[in-house]
Amino acid sequence: MLFRSILLGLPLVQALIVTPHDSHGHDHIHEVRRSLPDSWYQPEGHPIHDLFKRDTDDGADYPAVGSPAWSAGYPTGAPDTTNLPAAWVAALNAAVAAGKIPSIPPTTNTPGTNPVYPTGIDPSSPSVCSATYKCRIPGDIWDSPDGVFASSFDDGPSPLTPSLVQFLGGNNDTTTHFMIGINIIYYPSQFLTALNAGHDIGVHTWTHPYMTTQSNLDLLGQFGYTIQLIHDSSGGRVPRYWRPPYGDSDMRVRAIALEVFGLETVIWNQDTDDWDGTPDSIQAAMTRFLAMPKSPGLIVLEHEIASTTVNGFMTAYPMIKSNGWKFMSLAKAIADGRTYQNAEGSLSDDVESAGILVESTSTSTALPTTTLALVATSIAQSNTSVTSATSAANNLSPTPEISQISAAILHGGNLKQLASLSLLSSVLVFSHLLL
Ligand SMILES: [Zn+2]
Repeated sequence: MLFRSILLGLPLVQALIVTPHDSHGHDHIHEVRRSLPDSWYQPEGHPIHDLFKRDTDDGADYPAVGSPAWSAGYPTGAPDTTNLPAAWVAALNAAVAAGKIPSIPPTTNTPGTNPVYPTGIDPSSPSVCSATYKCRIPGDIWDSPDGVFASSFDDGPSPLTPSLVQFLGGNNDTTTHFMIGINIIYYPSQFLTALNAGHDIGVHTWTHPYMTTQSNLDLLGQFGYTIQLIHDSSGGRVPRYWRPPYGDSDMRVRAIALEVFGLETVIWNQDTDDWDGTPDSIQAAMTRFLAMPKSPGLIVLEHEIASTTVNGFMTAYPMIKSNGWKFMSLAKAIADGRTYQNAEGSLSDDVESAGILVESTSTSTALPTTTLALVATSIAQSNTSVTSATSAANNLSPTPEISQISAAILHGGNLKQLASLSLLSSVLVFSHLLL
C-alpha cells in the first residue's frame, strides 16, 4: 500500500517493517484479511483514497497491536512537523492551492481560558466560526436524531475502558470512543477490547491540543498519525469522525480534517462536566438533560478517563432508558450509520478479520525508559507552566511520582485542561511499566 511505501523512508519504520511478528512474545494468530471492500464514504478523487490506498496487501502484515514494532513507528509526543509523510503534506498543499483551506491565523492559548484570535478576527463570524465560541459550522454534527441518546466517550483508551465495554456489553449496547492516538500506544489491549466488542472508534487527535492553536502542519500530524494508528491496528479501517479536544475547532481546522483526511467534525449539545464533577453533580446534570424535549436528540460529552466519569455514566444509564430515549453508539446514530470511511463497522463482514481483532496477549508496550522521559517532556511542554514533570518522570517510583506529576500538572495553572488528565493517565501507566 502507498502509505507503507511512504513510511519506508523513515528509519524508525524500517525497523518496524523488518522486525518479525513473533519477536515480541505474542503467541496468538496474527493474520488479517488481505483486501478491503471497494466502498468508501468519500467520493473518488478525495485525497483519503491515496493516503490510505487499498491494495491487495492492505490490512495485512501489520505488526501485532501492542508490540514494540507496532509502537516504534509513531511519535512519542507532539508530531515533528519537519518529518511528516510527504503524501500528507502534498495533500494539504493541494487543498490549500484549490482554495479549500481558509487562511485563518492560529489562536493563542492562555491556560484555563478560551483560545484567542489575533486582533481583528471575529471568532463568531461565518468565515471563522469557532466552535469554542459556540458558532456552528453547517455540516458539523452537534445534535443527534430526535429521541436518540447518541453515546460517545472521549480521551480513551484507558484502564477504565474494559469496565465500560463490559457494562455496555451486558446491556447489548455499544458506544463510540473518540480516542487519543498516544493513549492507544499506551493502552493497546484496552483499545482492542473496545474494537473487538464491536465498539466504534473515532479520532480525538494525537496529543489532545487546542486545535485552533495549531499550524496547518501541526494539524496534519495530529490527524494523520491518529488515523494511521487506528487504520493499522484495526484491519485497515479509516475513521470517519473526529471530535476536537475541548470542542475547539474552526473553519480552518475542520477544513483540513475534511479536505485532507475525510474526517467529519462532531461536537456535542450537552456537557455534564463529568471530568471535573462528583457523582451527585453528574447525576443532577444527566437528570436534567434526560427530562428535556426529545428534539433534538442528545449528544452528551462524556469521558472514559476516571472511575468517576465512567461510574457516573453507568449510574445514569437506566435513566436514559426509563426516560424513553433510544440509546445508540454515536457513529451509528448519525448520518447513514457507517462508522468508517471504508467499512460499515467494527465487526461488520466487509472487513472480516482472521486475526487482528483477537484479544491482545500483551499487557504492556514495553517502551524503553528513554521514551518515558520524552513523553513526560511533551507533557511538560503542553502545559507551559509545568516545570517539574520531566524530573518527576525521570525518578519514577511506586506512588510518590504519581502525586508529584499529578501535582505538577494539575497545579500548573490549568485545572480546566482535560489534556492534563489524559496525559497524566499515560504517565501513570509508564510508572506501572517500570515496576
Ligand atoms: Zn478530550
